[in-house]
Amino acid sequence: MPEGNEIHRWAARHTAAFAGRKLNVLPGPNHRFADAHRVDGKKLKRVHAVGKHLGYEFGDDLYLHIHLGRFGDFTEGCGPLPEPKGALRAILQRAGTEKASRSQKGQPHNLTCAKDDGTQPFPPEEVDWCELRGPTDCSVYDGAKWAALLDRLGPDPLADTARSGENGGHDDPARAFAAILRSKKPIAELLMDQAIVSGIGNIYRAELLFRHRVNPFTPGSAMELKTLRAMWKDSGPLLAAGMVDRRIVCTKRVDRPTKSEPAARGEEHYVYRRHGKPCLICGEKVLRRDLVGRTLYWCARDQGTSEAETATAFAEGMSLRASREIAKPGGKARKRAGALLAE
Ligand SMILES: [Zn+2]
Repeated sequence: MPEGNEIHRWAARHTAAFAGRKLNVLPGPNHRFADAHRVDGKKLKRVHAVGKHLGYEFGDDLYLHIHLGRFGDFTEGCGPLPEPKGALRAILQRAGTEKASRSQKGQPHNLTCAKDDGTQPFPPEEVDWCELRGPTDCSVYDGAKWAALLDRLGPDPLADTARSGENGGHDDPARAFAAILRSKKPIAELLMDQAIVSGIGNIYRAELLFRHRVNPFTPGSAMELKTLRAMWKDSGPLLAAGMVDRRIVCTKRVDRPTKSEPAARGEEHYVYRRHGKPCLICGEKVLRRDLVGRTLYWCARDQGTSEAETATAFAEGMSLRASREIAKPGGKARKRAGALLAE
């Protein structure tokens, strides 16, 4: 699932390629984008990114709202549009480029595509269109609906005014700190709640908690404000770094076994998906368990989890599906695996 860094990256690219121009906004052949006509042919002002939401702001106070969800992705290209294929939901195309004036022979359709690793140059002036596939939402909002969405979202570390010079009123971390300190839910759950902080996903959640040596099961109300402030301060540059090369690197060079810069493969994370492997700092095995439907990774020693908390980790080598079954309270699998969990 794309985290906030990816969403901001798309916003920056699509602002560079399309802002200030009139766009053809076309639905895909599956007719799941029924209100495309409301923004079709209008000039795009800019593209906003807040948390995991994209808002393409058109004239007349209209926003094309896109939430990529788990499977959504864009393909960008130049020249004439390719034949529709896959679960194509929407196409944004510069108006006037329908009949490409340049030589079409041998012209690649996909000048740049979603699968790039972010290290390739991105020439926005050469992008004529982008295709959207598999989003959770792609629909037209009016200004009031967009504003209501922003009100429901917590502050976004990447929209911090001090860094980006742009806000929309969604940069004030004090709102997030207050919400966390009011809650008895574990901090690991609160960080994933987009109403509290927006843009943090499963990778950044695990890595931020580790970097600050926070026990992921600490109730929000037991967190120290200075730790929350430090995590917020840390999250901006970490998210921003992930925007540049599409790799989310959360380890400090000094902590990497090879001390390489940039990080070698497999040394990007302290705990995320490193379950069963030795912690880069203390050497203990990294643990994982399900927490509200998403897998949490942590190091018991560095993050100081209690014996009881540590014991909730899935048995090593257990498949995620099996472990999810066990996590269901009262489930048959839970009883069967009771002995395994007690080990
Ligand atoms: Zn450790």
